[in-house]
Amino acid sequence: MPEVIRQLPDNVANQIAAGEVIQRPASAVKELMENAVDAGATRIDVRVVDAGRTLIHVLDNGAGMVEADAKRCFDRHATSKITSADDLFTIVSKGFRGEALASIASIAHVELKTRHASDECGVQLNMEGGERTGNVPVAMEVGTQIAVRHLFFNVPARRNFLKSDAVEMRHVIDEFQRVALAHEGIHFTLTHNDGELFNLRPATVRKRVIGVFGSKYDERLVPVEESTDVVGVKGFVGKPAFARRTRGEQFLFVNQRFVKHGLIHRTIMQAYEGLLPHGQYPLYVLFLTIDPARLDVNIHPTKTEIKFDEDQHIQSLLLPSIRRGLGKHAVAPSLDFDQETSLNIAPLPKDHVVAEPVVQVNTDYNPFKPQSAPSSSGGGLRPGRGQMDAWKTLYETAWRPDGENPSLAQEEVARPSSASGEVGAQLSAGDEVMAEQRPLFQLQNRYIVTATKSGLLLIDQHRAHQRILYEDLVRQLEGDVNPSATQQLLFPAVIDLNAADQLFVLQSKDWLAKFGLRIDSHDDGVEVQGMPMEADTSPESLIQAILEEREEEVAGVSREERVAAQLASTMAVRVGKSLKPQEMADLVDRLFGCSTPALDPFGRTVIVNFESNVLEQRFR
Ligand code: ADP
Ligand code: MG
Repeated sequence: MPEVIRQLPDNVANQIAAGEVIQRPASAVKELMENAVDAGATRIDVRVVDAGRTLIHVLDNGAGMVEADAKRCFDRHATSKITSADDLFTIVSKGFRGEALASIASIAHVELKTRHASDECGVQLNMEGGERTGNVPVAMEVGTQIAVRHLFFNVPARRNFLKSDAVEMRHVIDEFQRVALAHEGIHFTLTHNDGELFNLRPATVRKRVIGVFGSKYDERLVPVEESTDVVGVKGFVGKPAFARRTRGEQFLFVNQRFVKHGLIHRTIMQAYEGLLPHGQYPLYVLFLTIDPARLDVNIHPTKTEIKFDEDQHIQSLLLPSIRRGLGKHAVAPSLDFDQETSLNIAPLPKDHVVAEPVVQVNTDYNPFKPQSAPSSSGGGLRPGRGQMDAWKTLYETAWRPDGENPSLAQEEVARPSSASGEVGAQLSAGDEVMAEQRPLFQLQNRYIVTATKSGLLLIDQHRAHQRILYEDLVRQLEGDVNPSATQQLLFPAVIDLNAADQLFVLQSKDWLAKFGLRIDSHDDGVEVQGMPMEADTSPESLIQAILEEREEEVAGVSREERVAAQLASTMAVRVGKSLKPQEMADLVDRLFGCSTPALDPFGRTVIVNFESNVLEQRFR
């Protein structure tokens, strides 16, 4: 039997380690920034090109390395930060494994320039695929400059796995913000391609938080501070009124290290109980200080998970201190948060509500002929294709008695109204016709009730409208129809966003325009200049809906489509809104013109059917 076990060559071992430590450009940014922090730098400049694919350059004015250390720092398990396992229990530095530089050097081209204070000049080294190439003296200030080029040049699988620049840059910004928030005394800058995204001068924690998120955050912060002899907590939580539907503004640091901790997150959410509508998340930037001996930071190489000895203790400190903070700032009593957002009935301008179904009318459209082509004059907003499914058949057979077609009558009424402008009169005429043709009424300002030959249908108005809007938006996305009509805003709305969110939204600007959403950049965030015609919502919530979907692809569904679903959900008519008969008729007709009327874009039930035999049974 031949021997089969052998030692892996160092560079192979390093590449394997790199798979764990460096998943994407952002991980390298994090490691390099943390090294600079550990080196005692007071200024750290980060520059990335093409979201870090082409170049990641981190410059610091920290301690620097002498030549021998510079040569050693790329070796596996080379670290100056611990000498024995016992040191793990007193660790205060970010790094300690000595894996980051070895990993990065095994999968990228690295140029290191460094000068220690005890040296007259610096030294430059180059690493390529784990091999050292140059070693020359350079003139430079004390500190370290590391340029990482062509990340994953020798790991095509990793490279192909990377997402779009927008997504990768979002991750880079996330890591940058995490390090910058935890070290308010250090001057940080971040530049992407040639644009400066952040320039954060040394400041108080509050000013740093504002520097990272934007000046509007000043009024949103509620300070929290509390300590016992075991643990201290300090930082800020957001006022509930500014909570968002997206996660992403929750930062927990333990001994200045960004961590994720489910239990602490839940504790913080608990402190907001009764103050936030379901599904909203408050901002928090909280710093815990704990004796390192009570922590186990060693459970995962990227170290965002952490274990405490004192979970309970921390909980019992955190909960009252946040509640007290919120109470002190009179946040809790002065606002009414009990109301569910979905129950908000936004008062709309009168013409908006009434005119809409009329504008949408396609005079050639016959909902009972799903195959008919979308009209060219009607803006294509009416659904005109799609597969029949059982629901439609059910509904259609009910309302196609003897060639009588109720919807034609409805449209005959709607058509002149769009020209004459005498909307009110025309609609009430329409209502009469409709009332004759088929029963339609609204229950609890939430369900539309109508009948089929074989029973009763209940249609959830909000979900139905979501389905309709979603299919419209997807068609616009696919370019099957003209871009959605835009309602130009008389006063463009400025939506305050932090630099990361701003970048993220602006990168999607072009395809968002297909939805009728016109966005441009603004100093404080973005400016919404036009909204989709049918948006029953504020510009702010449209932007929030976009931020909801950050991943390029989830379960085979593109981000564009998922954003369409989110937009449909915010744009759709609310539960609690009373609908006119004409509006109900329009909604129902359009719903049954959809390819999947029975489910909303999130797969929830839109229609409930009560068969007459079920009804009969109840009357026994
Ligand atoms: P770790 O941070 O876990 O020690 P790294 O691979 O990140 O491992 O770095 C290896 C060593 O290189 C560090 O321990 C430190 O001594 C040195 N080093 C890395 N980056 C810098 C820097 N920016 N300034 C000074 N020394 C550095
Ligand atoms: Mg390190």
